[in-house]
Formats: sequence, C-alpha cells, structure tokens
Amino acid sequence: MRICRGAEGGQVKTYKYRLYPEKEATKRFLVLLELCRRLYNWALAERRSYYKETGCSLTYRQQQNTLPRYKSEHSEHKEVHSQVLQDVLQRVDKTFVNFFERRAKYPRFKRYGNYRSMTYPQADNTWIGRGSILLPKLGRVRMVKHRPIMGRVKTVTVLLTDSSEWYACITVENRPSIVTEKPKVAYRPVGVDTGLINYLYLSDRSQVDNPRLIKVHQQRIVKAQRWLSRKQLSKKTFTTANGESRTVKVPSKNRLRARRILASRWQDYDNAKNDWQWKLAGELVRKHDFIAYEDLPVGNMMRNHSLAGAIQDAAWSSFWSKVEHKAATAADSVITQKVPPQYTTQRCSKCGHIQIVALSERTYRCPSCGYMANRDHNASTNILELGVELSGIQTAVGMGVPEFTPVETRPILAEATRPMMRASLVVEAGNKFCTRRRTPPDSGRDSAYGSPEASAQGERHVSSEIRDAWNRPKR
Ligand SMILES: [Zn+2]
Repeated sequence: MRICRGAEGGQVKTYKYRLYPEKEATKRFLVLLELCRRLYNWALAERRSYYKETGCSLTYRQQQNTLPRYKSEHSEHKEVHSQVLQDVLQRVDKTFVNFFERRAKYPRFKRYGNYRSMTYPQADNTWIGRGSILLPKLGRVRMVKHRPIMGRVKTVTVLLTDSSEWYACITVENRPSIVTEKPKVAYRPVGVDTGLINYLYLSDRSQVDNPRLIKVHQQRIVKAQRWLSRKQLSKKTFTTANGESRTVKVPSKNRLRARRILASRWQDYDNAKNDWQWKLAGELVRKHDFIAYEDLPVGNMMRNHSLAGAIQDAAWSSFWSKVEHKAATAADSVITQKVPPQYTTQRCSKCGHIQIVALSERTYRCPSCGYMANRDHNASTNILELGVELSGIQTAVGMGVPEFTPVETRPILAEATRPMMRASLVVEAGNKFCTRRRTPPDSGRDSAYGSPEASAQGERHVSSEIRDAWNRPKR
C-alpha cells in the first residue's frame, strides 16, 4: 500500500490485491497487453519521425486526436477499452517528460512480452465485488480482497509480474484530512543508528539484529539461476515485410519456465524482506513519537564491491520509506527526522569532541572528557541530539520512555561479555574513515587514531551547518 497527496488535496492510497483469472481471461489479458504494446511502439515511432521531420515534439493532445484514425486502421484495437488506450499514450508522454527533465534515458521501444500492465484511469467503487473485480472488456475476475478498501476508487491497474502472478493495483482518494499542528514536545524520542551487524541500534540501548534474509534465500536463487543458464535459446528464421530473411533467438519452453521459477524465487525473497521491514517499521512507530535517523549515502556506499551485496540486502532506504509511511498514517502524531550522517560515530555525545574511531574499537572513549560508551550507543545519541536540533521540537526525556523490544531484538551484552568484533568493513556502514582505510591495522597510520593530531584533522572536516546545530545551547 502506498500513500501520497491527491489532486483534490485528499490522501491517495494504492491497494494491491492478487488476481486469479481463469484460463480464458488470462489469454485475453495477454492479448490486450500485446495490443497496448503495439500502440505504445506506434506512438513512440510517431514522435520520433515527427521530430525528425519538423524539429518539434508531438504533444499528448495531438497524439490523442490521431487515435481514432489509428483505431480505424487497426480494427483489433477496438477490443481494448478506449481509456486504456489513452493511458498508453499518457505513458509515452510521461517517458518523454521524464527524459526532458533528465530523470530517465531516451524512451525505447518495448519488446514482445515486455509490456506488463494496463490502467483503467476512471474506475469506480462499483467495480469492486466481495471476492472479485469487474474489468471492462474482460468481465469479472476473481480477486483476493485481503483488506477492505477505504475511500473513493480512482484508477485500477492490472499488473503481470515476472513470476506470472496477476495483481490489481487500486488507487483511492480520501477526503482531505484536517491538518493538525505538529506537536512541539516529544515524549518518546529515539535516535536510530543503522548498520550491517545491528540492523538498528536505538538510543534507548535496544537493538535489532540484521536478519540477512539473502543468506536464507541465496541457495534457492543460485540454483534457479543455474537451471536458467543451462536452458536453450533456439534460432528461428522468418521473412520480414520487406522480403528479407532474418534469424532471431527464441527462448525454449523450458527456458521460459526456468525464468519464471527464478523470478518467483526472487519474489519470495522480496516478500519476506518487505514483510519483516513493515513489521519492524510498525513496531518503531508504535513505540516512539519522534524518530531521528541517518540519511545514509547508499549510492556512494554501494561502490564498495565487498559491501554492495550486504547493503542491497539491508535496503535501508526502503525501510525508512516504510517508517515514513507508517508515521504519516499513524493514529498518534509521529515525527521523523533525517540527519546528515557525518561524524555521528566520531563525535563524543557528552562534550562534542571529534576523533577518528577505528572500526575494531567497539567502545567510544573520549580523551577530552573521559566519557565511555558503546560505540553505537554514542552514535545513536548523537543522531537523536542532532535530529532534535534540526526539527526544532522539545523532548521530555525520562518521562516514561518505554523499552523497545520487538521480536528481533536482544538485550545489549555487558562490555566484558560481548564477543570481540573483527575489524571488518562490514561492521559499520556510513563511516567514511572506515571505508577509505586501506592500511593494515598495525601500520603507522593506525597509531594516529585518537591522537590530538588526528582529532584536529577530523575536526576540520565538520561542515559548518552540523557544527552550528551541535553548538547551539541545549534547551
Ligand atoms: Zn567527551
């Protein structure tokens, strides 16, 4: 389920339901998708040739006006709902808008089987039955309505996934909600440090282990990938309209089947991960009314090849967007605040001293004020403090801050009983000193860690914005 603001100011939500079409309906769906794909490619070709001839772009309106002519020339398109065809032209228009606004590459033609969804732009609540949905030109299709639809139905998109599952994505718009002023005091604030060993470390000292779900699913996915790579691509020769003979590679039936199996295994992994993330996000939002978290530069971090897989599996940005969603729809007001990730680990949360901290160092020891704490605890406290400063709210720390104990948490071990962590890049993400460090731990550079020179060097890099936020007097 997704959420955003609608044209009438109301909240727009998208519900996704699984469809189980009969054999005949499935065939028909595929035919309609193919017709949509042809129109898409035709519209794209029209735009390209018009630009070549005149140097101007075709608009959506101009293309829509040529649609009746196209339909009279291609009578099979009368099978498709007229508004679905208009939506195809809208999609072509959108790809060009995205291209001109530099969000996407130049639009390309869609290959056979590569057009996988169609949208009815003017749907209605009457379409939705108890266990079915009525789709124009298709009839009633069985639908598992696993949750009630709240709001006025606006559009319906029928979607075919790579694993050959059918879904209906139904967008609804609710009446604009009364905007209440955001509270100025947070009673249950929390700062969250993200990492690869501890998925989350909260400033109330609770932690959530990284489930590393890819490890669970990897074997099945690798096996399916191997099946696929062994399957044949057969050669097929055909004659084109110009009379030329052309040979293309066509996947065998078994190859298509293997491809579907691989896609469904990836789907299983995605489902498991999303389910885990949604539950954790719900738990976090239920227990806290102010959540500060790091805005990690995931794109930069992915450049490190040894970490990329683990970072992709952790999917922090998708987790935080789920938290944002839960916070926006929560019954009680919940505020989320992103903070810049620089120096959250290196800074002492008591006195503000900044020093370089080696990854092997699991305890933060401040040479300036003597403060000692778990490294992640120090970081999450910094994140909370910075988040409070940036959002401008006040906190009532100590007023009934509850324990955070979702299913995946474990109590923090005492320093002495904690297992020794190896100094590995995997230990912590987002630490720029760590990802850059290439020298072995016993080299001369390491001995400078924590020294006054290193501290001074670290301090020079602090951006003035963050420093101002930290140096502001505490309320
Ligand atoms: Zn200190």
